Amino acid sequence: MRRACLLCCLLTTGCIGFHPKDPKWRQPAEASTTPAAKPRPELAWREVGRSVRGRSLRTTTLGHGPRRVLWVGGIHGDETEGMVATASLPFEFLAIPDAEARVTLTILDDANPDGRDQKTRGNANGVDLNRNFPAPNFKPIRSFGIRPLSQPEAQALHDLILALRPHLIIVAHSWRGDHFINYDGPAEEPAARFARLSGYPLRASDSFAPTPGSLGSWVGNTLRIPILTLEYLRGRQPDEAWAETRTAILSVILEG
Ligand SMILES: [Zn+2]
Repeated sequence: MRRACLLCCLLTTGCIGFHPKDPKWRQPAEASTTPAAKPRPELAWREVGRSVRGRSLRTTTLGHGPRRVLWVGGIHGDETEGMVATASLPFEFLAIPDAEARVTLTILDDANPDGRDQKTRGNANGVDLNRNFPAPNFKPIRSFGIRPLSQPEAQALHDLILALRPHLIIVAHSWRGDHFINYDGPAEEPAARFARLSGYPLRASDSFAPTPGSLGSWVGNTLRIPILTLEYLRGRQPDEAWAETRTAILSVILEG
C-alpha cells in the first residue's frame, strides 16, 4: 500500500494521500472529496467507569496498529479548552492513510464529567483528580484525597492505563495566562516535537507548580510511560486551540 506523506497530511485540512512531488498529487482545491469532508462515522463508546454522581466515563478506540496512544480530553472540570480537539481528533485521525494500521488510539473524552457539569476543577467530592494517583509524592489531604485512588474517576483512569499500557499519553488542560507543553517520564522527544510544531513553549514538570500525586507523576515517573500535559491558554476558544495544536497532536500520536 502506498504510504502517504505524513507532513502533507498534517499541513492540509484533509489528507489526499500523495506527496506534492508525486505526479498523482492534486492541489487541495481540486480534491473536492477529501476524507475529512465525508460523513463522519459513528463512534463506538465503551464505559470504563463511573463518576461520583454516576456519570459514564467512556472511551472510543480507533485503529489497530502496534503503537498505542491514549488521549484524555480533560481531568479538571473547569478546563474545557480542549473540547474541540477531543471531538475532532477521531475523524482527523481516521482521515490519515495508514493511521489505523500504525496506531491504536484510545480516547477518554472526559475523566471528570461531574466537575465539567459543575464547572469546578475537582470532582463532585471536591477532590483534584490530578492529585489522586499513587505516585511516591502523593499528599494525603482532603482536596487531594485521603489516599491514592480514593476517587472513582482516578481509579477508572488508573485501571484503563494499566490495561492499555500505552506508548504515549496526552492529557488536555488549560493554564491561566499562558500555554505550554509539559511532560513527565521519557517523553523529551515527543514534547520537543510538539513544541516545535505548535509553537507552544516546552516546560519541565514541577518547574511551574508542585504536582504531588499527579497523573504525570505516576505515569511518567512510576510507570515510565511518556506523558504529555497539554496546557491550553485558559479561555482560548476551543476551535482555535485545536487549530493551533492539530498538527503537533497528530504528529506525536502517529510517530513513535
Ligand atoms: Zn488542569
